[in-house]
Amino acid sequence: MNQIDYARLDRDDPLAHKREIFELPNDTIYFDGNSLGALPKIVAQTVNETTREQWGNDLIKSWNQHDWVNLPTIVGAKIAHLIGAQSNEVICCDSISVNLFKVICAAINAVGSEKRRVILSTRDNFPTDLYMVQGVESFLGQQRCELKLVDEAELVDAVDERTVAVLATEVNFRTGRRLDLQQLSQAAHAQGALMIADLAHSAGVMPIQLSQWQVDYAVGCTYKYLNAGPGAPAFVYVSQRHHAKLKQPLQGWFGHLNPFAFEPEYQSAKGIRQMLVGTPPVISMQAVNAALECFNDVSLAQVRAKSMQLTHTFQQSLAAQDWSSDFELISPSHAEQRGSQLSYAHPNAYEICQALIERGVIADFRAPNYIRFGFAPLYNQFQEVERAIAILADIMSTEAYRDPRWQTRSTVT
Ligand SMILES: *Cc1c(COP(=O)(O)O)cnc(C)c1O
Repeated sequence: MNQIDYARLDRDDPLAHKREIFELPNDTIYFDGNSLGALPKIVAQTVNETTREQWGNDLIKSWNQHDWVNLPTIVGAKIAHLIGAQSNEVICCDSISVNLFKVICAAINAVGSEKRRVILSTRDNFPTDLYMVQGVESFLGQQRCELKLVDEAELVDAVDERTVAVLATEVNFRTGRRLDLQQLSQAAHAQGALMIADLAHSAGVMPIQLSQWQVDYAVGCTYKYLNAGPGAPAFVYVSQRHHAKLKQPLQGWFGHLNPFAFEPEYQSAKGIRQMLVGTPPVISMQAVNAALECFNDVSLAQVRAKSMQLTHTFQQSLAAQDWSSDFELISPSHAEQRGSQLSYAHPNAYEICQALIERGVIADFRAPNYIRFGFAPLYNQFQEVERAIAILADIMSTEAYRDPRWQTRSTVT
């Protein structure tokens, strides 16, 4: 029997008041904030102001007048606060993929040699992380860079004297399994290697402590749990320990010591600014800046507590259904061991996901046969879990997912 009191969970939720700062359609239950966060009202307003008043009215003067030129560091410092870093260790720029290229090369430059050339990662890491290493490998050659892949459980023991860096994503995009970044960082350092963390599914939802965990480099995006909008610029973290000798190959003019001197010779900026390449995408960076205000009066401990309660409540509610045995939970069964998502395998995962979306429950499908439900503690409610499970129960009992319309798949799943 299902005895969860969803309404009471919502009444007792210390983050309940945050929902109204988001623009969310009434008829939608949005469990996809792990792929594209919802729109904060302040972001819509800020983008409007940036385009109409700053760009439209103040034109090029805005670079100084509205401090556009310093947005990457201003926004970086705010993100630093959410990931346990110093404000001069993080900068907002480019995409995760491009930032990975920079930090992989920086790590090779810092400790690499012909003997130490392995970038160690996990087989089921997000593909772009692996593709970026493969790209470096094919350009530098295998005598300088070699990608080695192991299972998540083998990662700690696989580090050895040939390892340049461990490249790990804290929360696995498919399963939601959480890795212990501190333990990985220690294992890397014990062998003279460095630690690169991907925080795509962590930033804004997990209480990360990069300084304390001694992580060397990290990357993350702002369009998932940070709610900055589609394709909003990412961030990159470089520990202060590495600033003095920092070197990365994308030597663009924004990473120059003095960009507006227009000198023909590259000379790198000091510290984290060296990670910049070209002109920042001002409109979307203003969106990131505004979106971060959503975190002003909340602690990540509160966010994490609600996130665990949401996944736990969903898991229990689904398990109480008589069809639940068809859904195989592929996320860890304990909330502490996973991020803010639940993934279930089902032979008809794709069709079920389409049927859910048609009825206003937005989850996503990941190949080969998983449905992912992402929970965003700033706006998801416990009563949405209740309604979503009721809708799913109806889809399963009526077999509504067996609709011929869902035999063909769209490009973005
Ligand atoms: C979403 C995600 C990315 C996305 O990379 P972009 O270059 O920003 O598109 C990278 N890594 C992981 C682990 C992700 O989940």
